[in-house]
Amino acid sequence: MSNIMEVKFSAKSENESLARVIAASFAAKLDPTLDEIADIKTAVSEAVTNAIIHGYDEDESKFVYLKCKLDNNSIEIIVEDEGNGIEDVDLAMQPLYTSKPELERSGMGFSVMESFMDDVTVSSIKDEGTKIVMTKKINLPE
Ligand code: ATP
Ligand code: MG
Repeated sequence: MSNIMEVKFSAKSENESLARVIAASFAAKLDPTLDEIADIKTAVSEAVTNAIIHGYDEDESKFVYLKCKLDNNSIEIIVEDEGNGIEDVDLAMQPLYTSKPELERSGMGFSVMESFMDDVTVSSIKDEGTKIVMTKKINLPE
């Protein structure tokens, strides 16, 4: 079984909750546990918040893309923006690193994504945008 879906939404903070509900509903087919659903929602929230705040500097005329793919026992979630991009991905992914300390960000978004998902891959080009690919195995037999 394989199933895919894509949505494009305005870079508005109110769409962050929409995105995480969409991803969680889509994952429901794999019969995830409540913990797994919570993990997916949190990771999607972090990635979408980053796209809006860092990728687009809160320019609501821009768009964020959410793509999800289900395979037998895993979900792949892609969050993409066409915004500022990240100059140094390794630095950006370090716990506590933030480029916006003045906004009271804690620099933990990527760490949260990495701890709640099985794999997180970031690709980014300065001034072209950022793509986060996250995968999680769901409801595996013990
Ligand atoms: P927190 O998520 O704890 O509120 P944060 O967003 O600064 O703080 P991370 O989510 O870990 O922390 O991101 C680290 C840094 O990576 C950001 O401060 C920003 O510089 C950069 N970054 C992350 N996502 C993007 C993006 N989509 N576009 C541009 N820069 C990004
Ligand atoms: Mg963040």
